[in-house]
Amino acid sequence: RGAKKYFPVHGGWLRKKVGEVRAVDDITFDIKKGETFGLVGESGSGKSSIARLILRAYDLTEGEILFRRSNGSIVDITSLGDREMREIRREMQMIFQDPYSSLNPRMTILDLVGEPLTIHGVGSPSEIEDRVAELLRLVGLRPEYVSRYPHAFSGGQRQRIGIARALALNPSFIAADEAVSALDVSVAAQNINLLQDLQEQLGLTYLFITHDLGMVEHISDRIGVMYLGRLMEVGPTEEMFSKPLHPYTEALLAAVPQPDPRGNRERKRVALKGEIADAMNIPTGCPFHPRCPYADAKCKAEVPALRSVAGGRQVRCHYAESLDLTGVAAQ
Ligand code: SF4
Ligand code: MG
Repeated sequence: RGAKKYFPVHGGWLRKKVGEVRAVDDITFDIKKGETFGLVGESGSGKSSIARLILRAYDLTEGEILFRRSNGSIVDITSLGDREMREIRREMQMIFQDPYSSLNPRMTILDLVGEPLTIHGVGSPSEIEDRVAELLRLVGLRPEYVSRYPHAFSGGQRQRIGIARALALNPSFIAADEAVSALDVSVAAQNINLLQDLQEQLGLTYLFITHDLGMVEHISDRIGVMYLGRLMEVGPTEEMFSKPLHPYTEALLAAVPQPDPRGNRERKRVALKGEIADAMNIPTGCPFHPRCPYADAKCKAEVPALRSVAGGRQVRCHYAESLDLTGVAAQ
């Protein structure tokens, strides 16, 4: 709710504060129980910062992050002390981008997957061994692998080990930041399918962060589009792909490669002008205005609010209702 994360920037020989980077600027959105919420945007849009804020790797500058625990109580995790946060961490886990660097190469699979259980003092050594075997089966790996080290596995398998580790404490919420981006397409697809099976089996809720719109279309129930630290549009995946309401969403969709060149997926091409702005010098008014083909004087002067519109959708554009934007037409 109203989440802000500003990083101060220091400069000069006195190391005075010379500015700030508004990595996350007044973000409000909900992730519903059991859904996959996809967060998309170019690099530098603030999407990774959101995952880190939710998992308390950083503290918020302002705002709240409300989490509904499995016992039904709602807590603002930004107000918790270390001990309480440790308890909540059991219920929220992260899957990392790079399966090569996120697993300690000197630990066996038993130690890696069992570590969260050991840290939280859950079970005797033999119970932990049984649980690790069960977790490996759950992610499609053979339980006999427990005594091996990460280097003995492929990238896709290492990611499954990371997923098993994330599941060890029975979390209800998992954030995945560019989780499969480092993998080959076919391996990525297998691991995405695994994540979807696990979601169904275990009733998990996902926050799926990626720059890959094809991936997000496949996996997400709803999507949030970020630009320069702000949410530009939120809505159900299908509606957003067929009828975007924000010019930035339209431009992102226009850049998605066509899956079937002979199909009927026809769109006008909306070229994105220029580069994403410098996060220290965010444009006045609508932050997208220097790149927006529909921008006018009002866009340069006034910041549009994130407004609710019909169909459970939200959009941050002065002209969302009057623009006739093109999405990816249904085949
Ligand atoms: Fe474009 Fe103006 Fe809408 Fe911003 S507010 S997206 S500049 S039309
Ligand atoms: Mg990132």
